[in-house]
Amino acid sequence: MKRISLIGSTGSIGKSTLSVVEHLSDRFSIFALTANSAVGLLADQVAVFRPEVVGVTDARHVDAFRRACRDRSVAVPEVVTGPDGLRQITSAPEVDIVVSAAVGAAGLWPTYTAVAAGKIVALANKEAMVVAGELLCKTSEVTGAQIVPIDSEHSAVDQCLRAGARGEVLRLILTASGGPFRETPVERLVRVTPEEALKHPTWKMGKRITIDSATLMNKGLEVIEARWLFDIPAQKVDIMVHPQSIVHSMVEFVDGSIVAQLGTADMRQPIQYALTYPERLPSPVAPLDWGAVSRLEFHLPDRQKFPCIALAYQAIELGDTAPCVVNAADEIAVEEFLNGNIPFTDIPNVIDAALDAHDLQSGSSLDSILEADRWAREFAKRWVGHRHAAQC
Ligand code: NAD
Ligand code: MG
Repeated sequence: MKRISLIGSTGSIGKSTLSVVEHLSDRFSIFALTANSAVGLLADQVAVFRPEVVGVTDARHVDAFRRACRDRSVAVPEVVTGPDGLRQITSAPEVDIVVSAAVGAAGLWPTYTAVAAGKIVALANKEAMVVAGELLCKTSEVTGAQIVPIDSEHSAVDQCLRAGARGEVLRLILTASGGPFRETPVERLVRVTPEEALKHPTWKMGKRITIDSATLMNKGLEVIEARWLFDIPAQKVDIMVHPQSIVHSMVEFVDGSIVAQLGTADMRQPIQYALTYPERLPSPVAPLDWGAVSRLEFHLPDRQKFPCIALAYQAIELGDTAPCVVNAADEIAVEEFLNGNIPFTDIPNVIDAALDAHDLQSGSSLDSILEADRWAREFAKRWVGHRHAAQC
């Protein structure tokens, strides 16, 4: 029986992870669950999975969580909060696997503490790898932590890499659905609404990643994630738009052979693979319906229409804290877009300006990463403020 600490249990990945744990309840149990503020759902999950510890990251919601448990006649487990509480949950000796599924750079701390404690880290929180890839990789070398990807493209790459030796790899090809604006004329993008941007054609996910999929910044972040996860230069990581989201990614080998991983678009597949890695077990995911697959299309992304792709490659080329700045500026820009404060087309503009103004710091120091993250958020907020002032 492997014991899991699940960070971000109330989110889209968190809920899918619990569905996999329920399906494989003879192999996995839950040691800890954490959420930021959705205390009602968290209490529902406690009733089913009976964790020993619960983390409520926003301390203002602790009382409401206790009440929610009592309302459901559920025994209140030990409750922890703040950075020390998260570290306790990720590094407890009882824990075998930490599933890192919080959203945004907030996922860095639990991911880092899990890696520092030498755990198996099933990583959904790509932002941790983007902002601190160098630090996490160096730390895992010291502690022996094993980082297994949950992101479907990286899970696919990991599976494809099993077909050959590392020296035989020519390039990785990450597939992208292309998002809801794949066929929208570029001149209309300035007017698209948050509601339109939140309509992802193939995946149901949290808001931030859904908007990132519409700008294609999600794919840019995934290129950076792949650079660290697979220790490969970003120039050898390419993007291919594939609207059907059936081929989850590919690896091209030096002999010209391309190995692809296909399957139903259901995150429970890569989550289960990460939990049982390197073993495969029967899964609750519906098998691919070949009758419904009429065609598989592939084309190169439009980099002019989606400037976030080039910004991500630029950031990884610059290295150090540049990817951290791109992620933080993007987090703020997405929030401001969702709140109606900037048009969709300003998302890359905010990121570009932040990258331009940033003085690079070391990418292997947690302090300089946290400082770059703070700086970029403030910069992005100011940028949006000035834009408003200029328009008024
Ligand atoms: P979500 O918005 O649905 O859920 C986010 C979770 O994080 C919630 O449980 C929330 O309580 C928690 N959270 C929010 N703010 C927090 C904070 N400040 N500190 C700690 N926890 C906090 O997001 P999601 O779609 O489940 O995505 C989670 C992560 O997985 C992201 O990094 C995303 O890029 C990645 N991912 C998601 C998918 C997907 O299909 N949803 C696919 C690949 C990768
Ligand atoms: Mg992905």
